[in-house]
Amino acid sequence: SSAANFLNAADTDYAQVKAREVGWAALKAVRQELGNVYLPLIDGKYVETTETVTSVNPSNFSEVVGKIGLISIEQADMALAAAKAAFPGWRKTPAKVRGDILRKAADLMENRRAELSAWVCLEVGKALREADAEVSEAIDFCRYYALEMERLERGYSYDIAGENNRYIYQPRGIALVISPWNFPLAIATGMVVAALAAGNCTLLKPAETSSVITAKLTEILVEAGIPKGVFQYVPGKGSQVGAYMVKHPDVHLIAFTGSQEVGCRIYADAAILQPGQKHLKRVIAEMGGKNGIIVDESADLDQAVAGVVQSAFGYSGQKCSACSRAIVVESVYDAFVMRLVEATRSLNIGLAEDPGTKVGPVIDGKARDRILDYIEKGRTEAEVALEMPVPDTGYFVSPTIFSNVSPDGKIAQEEIFGPVIAVIRVKDFQEALKVANGTNFALTGGLYSRTPSHITQASAEFEVGNLYINRTITGAIVARQPFGGFKLSGVGSKAGGSDYLLQFLEPRVVTENI
Ligand code: GLU
Repeated sequence: SSAANFLNAADTDYAQVKAREVGWAALKAVRQELGNVYLPLIDGKYVETTETVTSVNPSNFSEVVGKIGLISIEQADMALAAAKAAFPGWRKTPAKVRGDILRKAADLMENRRAELSAWVCLEVGKALREADAEVSEAIDFCRYYALEMERLERGYSYDIAGENNRYIYQPRGIALVISPWNFPLAIATGMVVAALAAGNCTLLKPAETSSVITAKLTEILVEAGIPKGVFQYVPGKGSQVGAYMVKHPDVHLIAFTGSQEVGCRIYADAAILQPGQKHLKRVIAEMGGKNGIIVDESADLDQAVAGVVQSAFGYSGQKCSACSRAIVVESVYDAFVMRLVEATRSLNIGLAEDPGTKVGPVIDGKARDRILDYIEKGRTEAEVALEMPVPDTGYFVSPTIFSNVSPDGKIAQEEIFGPVIAVIRVKDFQEALKVANGTNFALTGGLYSRTPSHITQASAEFEVGNLYINRTITGAIVARQPFGGFKLSGVGSKAGGSDYLLQFLEPRVVTENI
């Protein structure tokens, strides 16, 4: 019944002149607010810090988006103590009351949609249209998890004559959310509101490069009426304060989205029982991908080229779901590569806020250098089929196409997280599937084909959490394409799906002999 009551928020239709004007006005208004200081929220109060970090616009790094206070270890302890104190009240709060706060937050996001999109655009260099879709996704997470928890709160009855059996759920306790910069609003909101809806007291530590947009999320949750100590905003250095909180004995659950390297470290650290700890920690980790799209001999090449371009270069390839391998059968290989190169050449590279931009910057200098290193490696392993000139005001990397890449090459195996695609030539569909499955990851995958037997076989054998047939492989929608992978892509949880909240809960059974 829950999913049936759920309606996805609608994206802005930028084909309407009015919508574009609202979007530009919001960018202008947000520009007036650049450079402000944002503070952590601990126990209901914004607190001063000794350290700060500066968040800049990746399209133009001379523009400071905001300055964010970073918490100390002592402040982390204060936040954890406040969460502990707030937990008994929050766990007793009915799901409907908790959910209403999240629905209020969703309404506030809807009211501030254009403004939030502008912040996303300027802070992480995402084109307005994609930023707007992120606001929709954040709204969806609030409303969907609120509804889902009302369903789960009812539990189950397994009664027989003379014996009542009630299956019920309780929250786990204190949840630490470590959110990524690439979907700075949607993914942070998703993990936070899942934890909150389920009745956990929740601390949010964002990626440093997206601390302003998560400060906006904090404002919204406060305005929506989240009680003090129940939600806290704890920006801090990942390697110090982040690691400290992961290891803290009072934390019950860690929800993380980010790199495989950090995810694996969290998993290991969380497994170690600390003095005084009376529980095992649950880790929800959504990590990387090396997602492939198979193009077979029966594919509609127009559709395949457009889908690969969008999946590979949308948001400069900085999505775990992005396509970084095109696996193409021999008979259409040359035609596909030629058309892929021409289609990519037509993409405008520029400032994220410019309406004509198709490829914006990457997040920061470190990311740019890492991607450029991979491109250098690629030159030694394969042929460069396309590179383009890029602006120098920000952290730009050209969309780059490598052809004749070996399936075992570094650029065909390691997650680059940038606008780089490896095109791999295979003999036939069977080899394509083998190559597609030949990485450590299993997140998204795609198939362009009009051969029913290939579609059936891929559905069964393509090892990915989300398989897309004859469409792009990014842009999963809440309650429609629950999203997440397995193998080294993550623990198999599906954000925006009906199993997701179970990970934030502890099931119990109460049996009464009557
Ligand atoms: N859910 C996003 C999508 O389907 C990807 C999320 C991510 O990059 O972490 O494109």
